[in-house]
Amino acid sequence: MKKRIAILGSTGSIGTQTLDVIRQHSDLFTAEILTAHSNADLLIGQALEFLPNAVVVTDTDQYEKVKTALQKQDIKVYAGEDSLEQIVESDEIDMVVTAIVGFAGLRSTLNAIRHKKAIALANKETLVVAGDIIMKNAKENGVPVFPVDSEHSAIFQCMAGEYHNPVEKIILTGSGGPFRGKSREYLANVTKAEALKHPNWVMGNKITIDSATLMNKGLEVIEAKWLFDLRPEQIEVIIHPQSVIHSMVQFADSSIKAQLGLPDMRLPIAYALGYPYRLKTSFPRFDFTNGANFTFEQPDTKIFRNLALAYEALKQGGNMPCIINAANEIAVEAFLNDKIGFLKIAACIEQCMLTAAFIKKPTLDDYFQSDRETRIICKEIIKKQQ
Ligand code: NDP
Ligand code: MG
Repeated sequence: MKKRIAILGSTGSIGTQTLDVIRQHSDLFTAEILTAHSNADLLIGQALEFLPNAVVVTDTDQYEKVKTALQKQDIKVYAGEDSLEQIVESDEIDMVVTAIVGFAGLRSTLNAIRHKKAIALANKETLVVAGDIIMKNAKENGVPVFPVDSEHSAIFQCMAGEYHNPVEKIILTGSGGPFRGKSREYLANVTKAEALKHPNWVMGNKITIDSATLMNKGLEVIEAKWLFDLRPEQIEVIIHPQSVIHSMVQFADSSIKAQLGLPDMRLPIAYALGYPYRLKTSFPRFDFTNGANFTFEQPDTKIFRNLALAYEALKQGGNMPCIINAANEIAVEAFLNDKIGFLKIAACIEQCMLTAAFIKKPTLDDYFQSDRETRIICKEIIKKQQ
């Protein structure tokens, strides 16, 4: 039986690469649900190629266009946020790939877990915001959450067969982004075009900026806490500019396991889709005889403040990670719209951490409320700066 996959955010960087994996392994997988926000043209093209059971476009303005283009096919077409949340309940799917960017992915991920769909999780913001609720629901429903993020996939792969061995710590690697080694003076004037040029990965705009500010690594620290049930002091970040070692796990006997490969997101995606089997791929192989030179350095959290802020949020707990996530989404959007400079991203987040209401034991509703409140606060801060 083929595994039937829903891809939430099929038109994005992770979404299109997931479809590539499915295309190359059509004997194992079928794409049964595809969703986009507003990129109707790409969604239509994908639907005509993969002939899914249903598609959802959350931007309701695009509904007519998608509906008309697919009217000759036996494909259900839905629109709006509620449809996105409900579509994951479908009996036609076994696994949901969460490839939507940001807080917008939370509701559908949670509903998929409640309906016992296996999760391949790319949408890290969901775990950053509500990791306690997501993991609790996954446990209660017996739902596996397979990491798609390359670092977490690496850790997951290192932990295979180690179930009786407690983890001493994990070492998350990061490339350091396009501004590694730069001074604050330099960063004050960098442009969005420079920030969008990641040295090793081609990704969506939001995560590319997060990589440049090191917020991506900060979000990944919080993501790792929830996925692997770790304390903050068990999570170390090290900069490894070559992006070949995707992360490492250290055990009680001092042994360290690492997972390596050339940077290609289709590898962790294929691992999540095919687990526990490794799929045969034709991706280029890493060659150790080719002058390989691995280097490592400490992240500079004085210059890249966001990583320190994420650790601080994790230590404070409660809704603080939700606050930094919302502030970050707004600040990154403002940077991408040329409203604030690069260094102001961290400044906005820090101010939101001091201003937004702290809740020690938040409910799901509290997370939604806190997300809304922080977005308003952050927009005010940005307005005052202009
Ligand atoms: P993209 O921006 O490339 O794609 C985002 C997808 O989500 C698109 O399909 C987009 O639709 C859809 N979308 C955007 N906003 C909404 C919304 N409000 N409601 C519903 N759908 C929406 O992002 P990435 O693929 O880069 O990232 C997706 C997730 O994966 C993020 O959480 C990121 O952190 C994580 N990730 C990404 C990696 C990468 O290599 N790209 C690596 C590791 C993790 P449309 O195209 O119509 O706008
Ligand atoms: Mg990553």
